[in-house]
Amino acid sequence: MKNENVQNLPVAVLGAGPVGLAAAAHLIERGLTPLIFEAGAEVGANLATYRHVRLFSPWQYNVDKAARRLLLNHAWTEPAGEDLPSAGEVVDRYLSPLASIPAIASHLLLEHRVTAITRRGVDKVKTKGRENAPFLIRVDTPAGPRQFVASSVIDATGTWSHQNPLGADGIPALGETELAARIDYGMPDVLGSGRERYAGKKVMVVGAGHSAAGSLLALAQLAQEHPGTSIVWATRGSRLTRVFGGGEADGLKARGQLGMRLKALRDSGGLEMRQNFRIEQLTEVGGKIRVIGEAVDGEVPTLDNIDRIICAAGARPDLELTRELRVRHDPWLESTDALAPLIDPNEHSCGTVRPHGHRELAHPESGYYAVGAKSYGRAPNFLLATGYEQVRSIVAALVGDMAAADDVQLDLPETGVCNTRLAYESPEDRASSCCNVPAAVAASCCVPAPSPDGTCGCSKPAAASCCA
Ligand SMILES: Cc1cc2nc3c(=O)[nH]c(=O)nc-3n(C[C@H](O)[C@H](O)[C@H](O)COP(=O)(O)OP(=O)(O)OC[C@H]3O[C@@H](n4cnc5c(N)ncnc54)[C@H](O)[C@@H]3O)c2cc1C
Repeated sequence: MKNENVQNLPVAVLGAGPVGLAAAAHLIERGLTPLIFEAGAEVGANLATYRHVRLFSPWQYNVDKAARRLLLNHAWTEPAGEDLPSAGEVVDRYLSPLASIPAIASHLLLEHRVTAITRRGVDKVKTKGRENAPFLIRVDTPAGPRQFVASSVIDATGTWSHQNPLGADGIPALGETELAARIDYGMPDVLGSGRERYAGKKVMVVGAGHSAAGSLLALAQLAQEHPGTSIVWATRGSRLTRVFGGGEADGLKARGQLGMRLKALRDSGGLEMRQNFRIEQLTEVGGKIRVIGEAVDGEVPTLDNIDRIICAAGARPDLELTRELRVRHDPWLESTDALAPLIDPNEHSCGTVRPHGHRELAHPESGYYAVGAKSYGRAPNFLLATGYEQVRSIVAALVGDMAAADDVQLDLPETGVCNTRLAYESPEDRASSCCNVPAAVAASCCVPAPSPDGTCGCSKPAAASCCA
């Protein structure tokens, strides 16, 4: 139990993205005071870097319930639930109005980048007095470094600001840093502000996720308008099942369509494909980029005459922030440890993640929680709806309402790329899988899926109402 002075301190919320602001809304609703630190000059700063991208989940999944209640008390015009917003619209129509509500605005510090979190007067090794020590937060501000204290910390800093490198080994490829001016990470606006950079150029896209898919489709459109534009798609592996997605079976229609359009583009020959291409080195040859891959059977694969590269290889959390805290992460996903088996992208897509809350999100450092995209670490299958339920549960636990904190519920859209209804690339793949189940079975709670031993298991825990 914390002493009263510490309990009266605000709860620090790190990051004013959708999940950080949702945490703030829940804190306010529960009578606690948030203190929100945002590195960017505006809220939703990461979403703002891909404003042009249309999300694949409709508004109904993108607005947190406590935030919605707060907004509706402040003459907010709610977008239609079934419409698909762009990332920019999420910022303009939801996050910015939310951040301007006085209860939030008065506790929001923009251009405040958190650089470290610790306990006041207690280093990582010291146990005595730890629980009673307030959190100390070191922050870079326009006026120089400052420190703040808080009773608890909700870390919603996401992963998008720390993009994975091109290097297949997880560290930058040799030459990557030197050629950084010709590489864009994430999802540049190919058809808008980036048009001049790509039109008429040979562009390589690296990655096998939805971000890569979006950039490839945008480049294909650009190539129609500027015929000199050519596109190379390089992936580290050979299976494209995940990015081609669940097609019609995807609970998020737009995501299913994205995968189907990409597959059609690939099938039409609109892309130069380089699969199993693991990048080791970049060099400059005749003013262009030469990309060198890892040798396969003594052959060193190379790609020449590349003008620009778009690296969409995922992102990772900034674990440096919590160096002085007692945190426990999954060794390879870098997610909060207990979450790893629930979200492992080898087993799960977004739609099969089990509801989880304050217990799974707790660390040995009591009072510190990573939430939102950061809680998933390097796993790419995070959905906003999951993050909103995370912060609802955590805030309920912070005020001692354990019944509400433990009552975690999630209504996630099925993806069709999960264990249940894979859109297989080849008929052989499909026939050999026990995921190939009749629709009637797939619609029930207990869906056959391959178990690690190769037999058919159950991809979802059976609910009391069915399969019992
Ligand atoms: C292209 C793309 C499309 C997506 N589409 C969907 C979709 O359709 N539906 C869906 O549910 N999910 C989608 N997601 C996944 C996910 O919902 C988003 O990534 C979402 O933005 C995660 O929210 P967040 O609040 O956890 O993190 P972020 O939105 O990344 O917010 C983190 C915030 O923290 C700030 N910050 C970072 N470091 C610091 C620091 N040290 N100090 C202070 N502030 C800091 C950042 O500036 C940022 O404002 C998509 C993701 C991507 C990349």
